[in-house]
Amino acid sequence: MKMGSLTGNLEYIYQDAVRAYAGTLKPVVARHWAALAPALQPLADKLCLCVDSLLEDINASLGLWAPWQLVLLTVVATALLSWVLDAAQHAKHTLQDKGVTQVLARLAFRLPVLRGIVAAKEQKVVDDLEESMKKGAAPDALHELPPAGTPAADLKRRLGAKGLEDHQFKEGASTVSGVLYMAGREHLELLEAAYSTFSMTNPMHANLFPAVRRMEVEVVRMTASILGGGPLGDPGVCGAMTSGGTESILTAVKASRDYMAATRGITSPEMIVAVSAHAAFIKAAEYFGIRLIRLPVGKDYRLGGRAVRRAISRNTVLVVASAPGFPHGVMDHVTEIAAAAAARGVPCHVDCCLGGFVLPFAARLGRRVPPFDFSVPGVTSISADTHKFGQGHKGTSVVLYRSKDIRKYQYTSITDWTGGLYISPGFAGSRSGALIATAWASLVHLGEDGFLEATSAILAAADEFQAGVRAIPGMEVLDSPEGSVVAVRSTNRSVDIYEVNDLMTRRGWHLSPLQSPPAVHICFTAAHTGPDTVRRLVDDLAECTAEVAAAPGTKAEGGTAPMYGAAAAMPDRSVVGRFLVAYQDLLLDSC
Ligand SMILES: *Cc1c(COP(=O)(O)O)cnc(C)c1O
Repeated sequence: MKMGSLTGNLEYIYQDAVRAYAGTLKPVVARHWAALAPALQPLADKLCLCVDSLLEDINASLGLWAPWQLVLLTVVATALLSWVLDAAQHAKHTLQDKGVTQVLARLAFRLPVLRGIVAAKEQKVVDDLEESMKKGAAPDALHELPPAGTPAADLKRRLGAKGLEDHQFKEGASTVSGVLYMAGREHLELLEAAYSTFSMTNPMHANLFPAVRRMEVEVVRMTASILGGGPLGDPGVCGAMTSGGTESILTAVKASRDYMAATRGITSPEMIVAVSAHAAFIKAAEYFGIRLIRLPVGKDYRLGGRAVRRAISRNTVLVVASAPGFPHGVMDHVTEIAAAAAARGVPCHVDCCLGGFVLPFAARLGRRVPPFDFSVPGVTSISADTHKFGQGHKGTSVVLYRSKDIRKYQYTSITDWTGGLYISPGFAGSRSGALIATAWASLVHLGEDGFLEATSAILAAADEFQAGVRAIPGMEVLDSPEGSVVAVRSTNRSVDIYEVNDLMTRRGWHLSPLQSPPAVHICFTAAHTGPDTVRRLVDDLAECTAEVAAAPGTKAEGGTAPMYGAAAAMPDRSVVGRFLVAYQDLLLDSC
């Protein structure tokens, strides 16, 4: 970027503005002030007299106090008042956000007796977990940089062996919910070729890698064109690529927060989301110091406009809708939510991480898809994942905005860094141009007809599964999902869905467990669309359900049912939180 000429131009513009002020505005201001000043003088005099007498009265009544006492009293009183106000506000928010049971349970667990018991139990669970991880440790695990290098040929062999330890991509016969989104080998090989062609590139240096820069522009444009932007939609829609859905969401939240700080002066930001909104929004609230207002969803598992309207305050910086949401795969009532936000001048983000490359094509295939994109007034930003249903490699996503007004708040521009003039569009500095190339290749390779074909096959799989579940006694689909995610729960009191899930895991399926209500979901992708895949899934689900119904309470060894059961029963969620942290520690440290 030619920074020199840009700053040069800025200087001219600034000088012009100063000259214009001196030439035209200054005499006008001076003239009016001369006329106004005499009229204001008596008023000012009167005000001074009033203030004088008030101050005299106060001084007389405080005359008994020494000046230092007065100073000290003022300081202490101010500090005390501010502390009381803060504490009251904090207590109110804690009660609102966590609920009375949580707060009371947490207080109870602070009692020394209970704390000791819980800590010992916690340690035992963590120790067991560590023990089981150790059992799986690889004998050739590295603990330091090998002193001598390894020849490339040897290493390739070793990498090949390592690759076989991991889950294998099964064309058309995936047994995993989501995760693998590609249709087939040919697609995969094309993306690998795109990666290797651009493996040395970095879009931060746009002058060195113009092709990569243009591919990013085109990926954003192609994505915008299917989501209500582009030549046939709102031409103002713009965006940027990120490393994934979470980063797209973090970026949009950060940009909206800073936009509302700049335009409305909001310094205690709040964000409104449904309990079913993706975890990335909770992360964003934590990262960016935003108070999160989590609203319950309706009986249809969707967030509506009425709850949002009531929750919006003068501190709201963003309202979130999902199309569809991750847990239940159903779309929030986007039109209502966006209207509620727009009525108060608040930005509205639609999370299309999962639906961005499905819903537009589902609508074209004649499916029931309520409006959800930039065609809906009030929607100000959208996230859509090229690395999910865009069928790209992991590591890319797109964040879109209605206009540049909000997008610019995701940028960082630094003019006084000793390292030079600096502008960066998002969180990352250097990025991989190769990943941009893979996303580009995926979208261009599939094209509109490719996406229509893939979507048709994916939705047919979801339909077949739904029909299959309806035929299983004691199982039910949660509402009627519009897209590729189908959530299932047990209607039979003696059938614990988590136990069913553990049996399914033993049979090689990897479904996603959900909470409140207890359920599991499967996200169908192009990797499930081979013959027989869904039939086998339904058969296994029917058999596992029958097995649990016949012998409720039998826990599969190493399953997650006991963990989810305990988590649901635990009044103090901070215990569960500590388990998760211990588990993450083990994942990062043991091998
Ligand atoms: C996957 C997903 C995300 C987050 O995406 P990552 O790419 O895993 O970071 C956000 N929202 C929804 C609805 C998703 O399904």
